[in-house]
Amino acid sequence: MASAAGERITFVDGKMVVPARPVIPFIEGDGTGSDIWRAAVKVIDRAVEVCWREKRRIIWKEVYAGEKAFRETGNWLPQETIEAFQEYRVGIKGPLTTPVGEGIRSLNVALRVILDLYACVRPIRYFPGVPSPVKEPQKVDMVVFRENTEDVYTGFELEEGKKETKNLIDYLAKSYGWEIRPDSGIGVKPISKSGSRRLIRAAIDYALSKGRRSVTLVHKGNIQKFTEGAFRKWGYELAKEAYPDRVVTWEEAGGKSPEGKIVIKDTIADIFFQQTLLRPDEFDVIATMNLNGDYMSDALAAQVGGIGMAPGGNINYENGFAIFEATHGTAPKYAGLDKVNPSSLILSGAMMLDYMGWAEAARRIEGGLERTIAAKRVTYDLARLMDGAQEVSCSQFGNLICENMER
Ligand code: NAP
Repeated sequence: MASAAGERITFVDGKMVVPARPVIPFIEGDGTGSDIWRAAVKVIDRAVEVCWREKRRIIWKEVYAGEKAFRETGNWLPQETIEAFQEYRVGIKGPLTTPVGEGIRSLNVALRVILDLYACVRPIRYFPGVPSPVKEPQKVDMVVFRENTEDVYTGFELEEGKKETKNLIDYLAKSYGWEIRPDSGIGVKPISKSGSRRLIRAAIDYALSKGRRSVTLVHKGNIQKFTEGAFRKWGYELAKEAYPDRVVTWEEAGGKSPEGKIVIKDTIADIFFQQTLLRPDEFDVIATMNLNGDYMSDALAAQVGGIGMAPGGNINYENGFAIFEATHGTAPKYAGLDKVNPSSLILSGAMMLDYMGWAEAARRIEGGLERTIAAKRVTYDLARLMDGAQEVSCSQFGNLICENMER
C-alpha cells in the first residue's frame, strides 16, 4: 500500500523487500528528542542522497508516543502508532519519558513486547578520537544480542506485605518446601526454550552473515541452573542441530575458528565483565538474556565513549519488524538547547539503513562521523573530555557529518 509518495517495506520468504521510496514511521521522542531527531534525519537523508541521488528516498511518517502523544490524545502509546509500525515494518525512535504511576512501566518495553521485537541488538565499536576510560578502546568491537521479551522484565512481581504475596509464599512452602521470609517481595524469572533459541539463532545468523569469528553465550548458569543454565544448554543444542557444518564449539576448535566457521562458546556473566575490560578482543557477537544484556550493553558502551554514542535496534527476525532507537534517555535538562550529542540516533539510523540493505549509505554516515570526530569538532559531552576540541551544537555537529560524508 502506498502512503503519500512512498510504499511499504514487505517481508517475503524471510527477506526484507525494500522499495526505492519506503515509508518509515518515526517517533521524534521527548526532551532532547526533537533536537537529536532534527540532526539525525538530515544526516540520514543526506547519506541516501549522496549514494543514490533521486533514485532512492525515505518517506518519513511521524507517529506519536510519550509526552507529545499524551498532550494530543491523552494516551501515552496510541494504537495508531503501534499499527503504523506493524504496517510499515521498519521504524526509528528518539528517547521517551517513562510516565511515573501511569500503568505503563516503560513505553520502550511496551513497544518491544507488543511488537514482539525479541532481539535488542547493540553494536559497540570505537570511533578514533572519542574519549574513553580504558587504555585500548580500539580493541572493542562487539555486537550484543539481548533477549527483549522475557526474564525479570516481564514484570511478574508481587509487593512485600500484600495478601497475594503471602498466598504465594505459603503455596511455595507447602508445595515445594521453599522457605521464603514472610516480609519478602517476589519476582518471577521466566526463560523459555523457544525464546532463547530464536534469540541465539538471530545471533548466530548475524555472525555468519557478517563474517564474525564467534558467538559467546553469557549467563549465570552456575547459580540459576534452569533459567540461565538452560539458556546456555539450548544455545549449544541449537548450534549443533541447525548449523552442524558452520559452527564449532570452543573445545572442538581448540581455541581457533577454522576458515568459514564460527566458534560458539560461553562465559559466566561476572567473569564476562572482567574479561571484556582486560581482553575485549576475545569477544565478538554476544547472546544473552534480558537483564544481563541491559547491564552489559551499557558497560561496553562506556568503554567506547558512553551513552551519547551507542546505537541500538529492536528486531524480530521472523517477520522483519524492527525499531531502531537512541539508547540514552531524554536528558530533559538539555531539552530545546540544541546541545546534546545526536550520534546515538544517527548511528541507529545507519543500523536501520544496513538492515534495509542500504549499506552504502550507512558506511557514508560512519565515515562522516569518524572524520568529524577526528577534526575535534564535537558536542559538549565529548568536548569536555577531549584536549583541544571545539564545542559545536547538536545541529552543527549533524551538518559537519553531512559535509564530511562526501569526502
Ligand atoms: P538520560 O536522559 O540518558 O540522561 C542522563 C545523562 O546522560 C544526561 O544528563 C547527560 O549527562 C547524558 N546524556 C544523555 N543523552 C545524551 C546525549 N544525547 N548526549 C550527551 N549526553 C547525554 O537518563 P535519565 O536522566 O536517567 O532519564 C531521563 C528520562 O529518559 C526518564 O524519563 C527515563 O525514563 C527516560 N529514558 C528513556 C530511554 C529510552 O527512551 N530508550 C532510555 C533511558 C531513559 P550530563 O548531564 O553529564 O551531560
